[in-house]
Amino acid sequence: VTTHTAVDVLVDDTGRLGPLAYIVPDGIVVQPGDAVTVPFGKSQRHGLVLGPAATPEKATRGILLRLGERVDPLDMSLAFSLAEKHFAAPYQVAARLSPAAGRNSAPIDPGPLRLVARPKDLSLPVPPRNWRERTYLRPPCADPARIGALEALRLSAGGQVLVVCPTVALVERTLAEFESGAARLDSKARAGAWNGWRSGSVAVGIGTRASALYSASTLAGIVVLEEEHPGHLESSLPYTHSRDVARLRASAHSIPLTLVSASPTASGMHGSKVLTIPSATSLWPRVRLYDKNDIHPSMRQIPPALLAAVGKSTIPVVALCETRQSRRVCVRCGDARPCVSCSSFCKHPELTPCPRCSSKGIRWSGFDAARIRQTLVGAEPLTLAELSALPPASRTVVVLSGDALLSLPGLAPLHGSASSFTRLAEAAGPGGSLLIPTSYPDHPVLRALAGRDLTPVLREVWSSARAEGMPPFGHLVTVRLGWKRPPRTSDWPGTVLGPRRVAGEWEVLVQVSSADLPLLRSHLEAVRRRGKVRITLQ
Ligand SMILES: [Zn+2]
Ligand SMILES: [Zn+2]
Repeated sequence: VTTHTAVDVLVDDTGRLGPLAYIVPDGIVVQPGDAVTVPFGKSQRHGLVLGPAATPEKATRGILLRLGERVDPLDMSLAFSLAEKHFAAPYQVAARLSPAAGRNSAPIDPGPLRLVARPKDLSLPVPPRNWRERTYLRPPCADPARIGALEALRLSAGGQVLVVCPTVALVERTLAEFESGAARLDSKARAGAWNGWRSGSVAVGIGTRASALYSASTLAGIVVLEEEHPGHLESSLPYTHSRDVARLRASAHSIPLTLVSASPTASGMHGSKVLTIPSATSLWPRVRLYDKNDIHPSMRQIPPALLAAVGKSTIPVVALCETRQSRRVCVRCGDARPCVSCSSFCKHPELTPCPRCSSKGIRWSGFDAARIRQTLVGAEPLTLAELSALPPASRTVVVLSGDALLSLPGLAPLHGSASSFTRLAEAAGPGGSLLIPTSYPDHPVLRALAGRDLTPVLREVWSSARAEGMPPFGHLVTVRLGWKRPPRTSDWPGTVLGPRRVAGEWEVLVQVSSADLPLLRSHLEAVRRRGKVRITLQ
């Protein structure tokens, strides 16, 4: 028995069963990526040929029929290398090569590729010929859906174009930019959409991260919208990122890759030609900074000039609120001084002296929704996530807790700040205003925002990642273990943080150079064999 007489088949709709070995009978020739019909229990099922059987002796039944190619063999081998890189079994990524349902529907034909006309359209930069990969830095109010559609149209000269979005909402907005020729490939796709994409009748396929590996008939380009958005990261093993999957595919197929973002990450910019989308048609809101150092301490938190601007606003006013509750504290020593009769923001004076420093002065710290409702009458309090989800419109956006966004916890704090403020600018929209009281008017992110040019900050994001050995210049590995005892990590390479208890599990963070990654990999393989382990590699 040679390995070629039996193959591993991932049988459709068998959940976590994993691949099964089947005999390849005489007269049938199959290769990895082919769809086949196989006997399964007492019925027949479709399945995907993964490759030569790992345990050919277990094959007792034969393939019944070869249906055709479901996955491009090139994409198949990319999927396997991704699985290996992310500590997953090949079959765990094979499920991402095609949608779970509708594989047997007749292909749809959405017609010739045509965009909806826009009176004032964006003009995209022209990428230099020798750069296959580029990042479009979009002004905050330039619509990513429109950019995706325009770029897809441009790339479609050579064949089909895949547009990968971080959210279903953006899939819908991007699809709405096409009069014809495009189809969505996400979980709400029409029956036959994937077949149309696979057979070539769908010129532009628009999906979420789940579609990043779908094979086309003639793939001519990939566009990844909102490269920095966390929606691009898979939430199950293997934890791949759309940007990295798209990058691998673009390189293997020798096709262009376009990333789009208002605040690209260091990983996004690395190896990419960064081109700014011109913002001639006012694609930035007005940005107004109030320097708290010039304002009397009693009025610093809500400057009178800001209140006046809010009062004069003729467009809707929204205010960023924090999810953490506002706190009533001693003005001198900072100890908590909760009000005796209220649990949320109030204006009651304090009658008893502070037990620690005997001051009767109190102040409030932080801006939650209750405090904003009472102090900024007429402004709707919204969290950053809620603001980011607003449909495009002109608004006055008040950011009273902006300084907290300038020193975010996390591994790339400067990028986190840039990303937060560009999302706020996006919520303000063209013709809107962003009002920010701050003690740090010279912070690079605020300076960039006021100057309507983020490139200096992005250069700093990239160079600090390099200086600190963070992705893409080094790797960041997160290991989560559902073990009773912590793992032994004393001989692991790199900088190891933990193990510490997080949500009932052990968590270990490892920052490791590319040179040391293979060494870490052998430790992690050993850990993985014991089970109950999730490994995320960035
Ligand atoms: Zn005190
Ligand atoms: Zn009170």
